[in-house]
Amino acid sequence: MRRRAFWMHIAVALASIGVGAGAAHFSSTVRHIISALWDLPGRIWRADVRVLGRALRAIGVRFLGVLFLSTAIASADPAKTWIVGATVISPERPDSGQVLHVLIDGDRIAAVTPTAPADIAEAAVVHAEGRYLIPGLMDSHVHLTGIPAIPYPMRAQHPDLVEAYLRQVPRSFLRYGYTTVVDLIVTDPRPLQTMRAAPTHPDIYDCGGALPVPNGYPSQNAPTEYRFRLFPNTVVDPAHTETFPASEDPTAHTPRAAVERILKGGGICVKTFFERGFGRDRNLPVPSADLMREIVAAAAAARVPVLLHATSLEAQTFGLESGISIFAHGLWNWSPYAGGESMPAEVQAVLDRVVEHSIGYQATLQVIAGLQLLYDPGYLDRPDIRRVIPPALLTWYRSDEAQWYKRDLAQGAPDTVMWERYGAALQRGSRVVKYLAQHHARFLFGTDTPSGLTIGNLPGLNGYLEMQRLVDAGVGLRQLLEAATLSNAKAFGLDGQIGTVQPGKRANLVLLGSSPLESVQAYDSIQAIWVGGQHLLPGDLEADRQ
Ligand SMILES: [Zn+2]
Repeated sequence: MRRRAFWMHIAVALASIGVGAGAAHFSSTVRHIISALWDLPGRIWRADVRVLGRALRAIGVRFLGVLFLSTAIASADPAKTWIVGATVISPERPDSGQVLHVLIDGDRIAAVTPTAPADIAEAAVVHAEGRYLIPGLMDSHVHLTGIPAIPYPMRAQHPDLVEAYLRQVPRSFLRYGYTTVVDLIVTDPRPLQTMRAAPTHPDIYDCGGALPVPNGYPSQNAPTEYRFRLFPNTVVDPAHTETFPASEDPTAHTPRAAVERILKGGGICVKTFFERGFGRDRNLPVPSADLMREIVAAAAAARVPVLLHATSLEAQTFGLESGISIFAHGLWNWSPYAGGESMPAEVQAVLDRVVEHSIGYQATLQVIAGLQLLYDPGYLDRPDIRRVIPPALLTWYRSDEAQWYKRDLAQGAPDTVMWERYGAALQRGSRVVKYLAQHHARFLFGTDTPSGLTIGNLPGLNGYLEMQRLVDAGVGLRQLLEAATLSNAKAFGLDGQIGTVQPGKRANLVLLGSSPLESVQAYDSIQAIWVGGQHLLPGDLEADRQ
């Protein structure tokens, strides 16, 4: 009864926002507000809805303001820039760098030449002798509108923090050299459009709406009546038609119809799931092999990759048998086998097939490490967090209120116990990475930032932490560079545009103080970033410079 009253209030709040924003935006506003509900624990739904209504109106007004401002600002960069004397490392070449001069013209790389440019009169010049120029980095697994520690509608209680965070997200990715990101689950395109309209942002691609089965992961997080609105690409399973609600039209929910909608919305990939549940959710429905083959066939016809959420032995075995293109996570759930000293033969057999079939592999070790960080008392004192999180939000992250997620996960268990629990999963994930690295698997760099609601996955910085984890686990520095540039670009059909430092490519570049083929710390020595030819300095992208 109480929950019904809550949704009545939501409807009133939505209606008032809808009127304020204009009727044309009404239905997308509804979806926008419903959209983030899926990550809510039940008790948060009982938040004060009047506060919610007021705050959402304020957020809406401010976002329109940001949008207007951003379209009014034009880039002051000159059309041409010579980057002179850098050691250029480009992943299509096996060498560890050549001193080359790079001409940027507009948003493209116009020349990469060993001879010093004769005429630089009309170009800006960046002297880069002794530094290292690499292609802009690509993170192919992000969730740009998820906010660590602030689920919806807790957002209503902190509209200023929400606004500051969402404004900073694209800047934080750029701060760490990520000039291309792929959002794998879009429940509402509008916040992404706002980010794309901001003055500085990475190239943002997406997989459109993801494909769960009815009531399957992750749609089970939303109230039953909102699941299809939040996940309009929910697919009907030919092996389980009895689970498909009579109120929906099954022909609109075939894999082919879903993939068509993704392409129509500009999506470049298909995201789906094999997840029986974790935490409080167990025995969730999973797709049948027939359905997954249909999804794979529909995506193949559209020439886009299928990313499967799969973290267990069962799920990755299923993915291999269905012919998916990319695993969106590492394999840290070895159930029913324990994580002893040696890797179980069954796990190794799956990994051998991952290598053999050249499946793209996003190890996402920071999913686990980011949960573990909740139980590290010194974590928020890291000075690099200030680069990516607005000061007011960082202050709030230290508050007792912000610890709710940590407490929710621990259920009274001491910090040390939680640290060790995640440590064991991290060790399994790291062993998998080591094995795959030794066998030259096709790693794709993807962080899953933020994975759930942990403050241990902060935009941009999380990528650097993931890189350190991968290298610690055994990934070679060249493997890492390839995973974050050319391999990622190829896997998403973007290698005609990005991924190397070559003429004709989009001018997405990162200038480093040291070589990324010598140490992973090079990725923390960023001196300049170019995205579509726009020259940016890391300090200007940091959160206290908003
Ligand atoms: Zn994800």
